[in-house]
Amino acid sequence: MKIKSNHSPIKQLLTLLFFIIPCTYLASCGLKTKSSGNGKFREQPLSLEPPSKYHLADPQCQQSNAKLSLDSTNVWHWDGPNVVNSPKPLRNTNSDGSLNSNIISETSYGMHIRKICHSPDLNEGACVDENQELSQFYLQKNAQPLKVCRNDFNYPRDSYEGVALTSIHYVNSAADTYRRIMNENLPKVSLQIMPLYETLYLGVKTKAGPPRNISLWMTDNLAYSPMSQSILVFPQRAASADRDDKFWESSFVLAHELGHHIEFAKFDHIFHSVGLKWSQQFHRFVEADSTYEMESLSGFSRTSSIFSTISEAFADIIAFYAGRGEVHSLANLTCLGRNRNIRNAFFADNTPKELNTRVLDELFQKISPKGYTCNDVNFSDPHLSGAVLAYVLYQVFEIAVPDENGLDIDGRMSEKVSDERYRRSIRWVGSYLQKLKEIRLKSSEVTDIQLFEPMVHAIDQSIDGLNLSKAQQTQVCEKVSKLLPIFSEEQLRPVCR
Ligand SMILES: [Zn+2]
Repeated sequence: MKIKSNHSPIKQLLTLLFFIIPCTYLASCGLKTKSSGNGKFREQPLSLEPPSKYHLADPQCQQSNAKLSLDSTNVWHWDGPNVVNSPKPLRNTNSDGSLNSNIISETSYGMHIRKICHSPDLNEGACVDENQELSQFYLQKNAQPLKVCRNDFNYPRDSYEGVALTSIHYVNSAADTYRRIMNENLPKVSLQIMPLYETLYLGVKTKAGPPRNISLWMTDNLAYSPMSQSILVFPQRAASADRDDKFWESSFVLAHELGHHIEFAKFDHIFHSVGLKWSQQFHRFVEADSTYEMESLSGFSRTSSIFSTISEAFADIIAFYAGRGEVHSLANLTCLGRNRNIRNAFFADNTPKELNTRVLDELFQKISPKGYTCNDVNFSDPHLSGAVLAYVLYQVFEIAVPDENGLDIDGRMSEKVSDERYRRSIRWVGSYLQKLKEIRLKSSEVTDIQLFEPMVHAIDQSIDGLNLSKAQQTQVCEKVSKLLPIFSEEQLRPVCR
């Protein structure tokens, strides 16, 4: 199939490059790539550099069949703006076959997958093979099971073992919180440490000089894959390797990925029924019958955009309450810090978190975002449109589920209040998804605003049964009216009776 697109060549280039590396969504947008010798790539949020190298601290252990129960390890903890190394518990964690726990099924490292593109001019669009068919990723090197042979040990920070144990500690904690609050277990997830995702363009034309082979790498990110039920911890790129804010050392980031897993565990049937699938490469929903390149070239459907927005909002909300509102693990993280703290009323560039027409128009690709670095607020990124929804729900809970005693010395809310909000956040997302499913199945003729309208119903459901005073009801109505200016009085009726 020859890929054609109506987009102008430059737009295609931007779209293609921008969407290839999903790090722009979660994390590394704005990290400038070093000059590649090809001016087109300069300033693009891509990793043209190879990922930094990681090593096995204990290669011999990988050959052993020893079974080990672990109860602690040294963990690197991002406590913005500092990083701290200290011993932390590892509950129900073992090394037998590979590292596992009561939420992690297995841990692997060293996988390398590659896609080869015979597309000499990146302006021409999609990554195609020599027959002009869409290229697919294929396995270059298998993942290996990762084992450890030492309990209560301080593995090097840049070793596969060190990265894995740190990640497992945070995923364990987030899953323990879910189990305690919801009184049910989640299905297990596997953990992939530092997989290499490479897109290799052969013979790319350059302005001067002979054609070059250029590899693009997925770096500086984490991702969740519902298909393989796994959390992927990608490497940092070489230039950012000495940065202290490593995403896998943030409890918030791992709890965010587990938040996606929670949403899938509970609501996967809804995504299926509306014809969506999760794209690991884009870190968002796409139409089930589309391909990676189709999405790259023609953009995302409105349905996939709204579902993606809700997912990112939910994952941030769950990560926030899993940490009882503690935000040190998020503070000052490159690109995430201020934007993603659900307590903040403004993005880093002072754009207010309110659901206005700009959010809708950028999300549904009717207007272009102002820019694609992480200093630009770009609502085509569901993480940022999601941050608006997360802030709205946070504000509603501040009124309806108040924390009378205030934060403790570590910046945590009381467990009782945080647990209540956690539970109600799951109810919020369930209500929203259910309503959205009904809209999608009924008609494709809905307006952009109507796709967001179930938000009001979901807010109402999330505070149902709380016996709010008249004053609280008024405050909720005023807050929601201010933060959701796209809705008419009539549309706000469920929360403004
Ligand atoms: Zn996410």
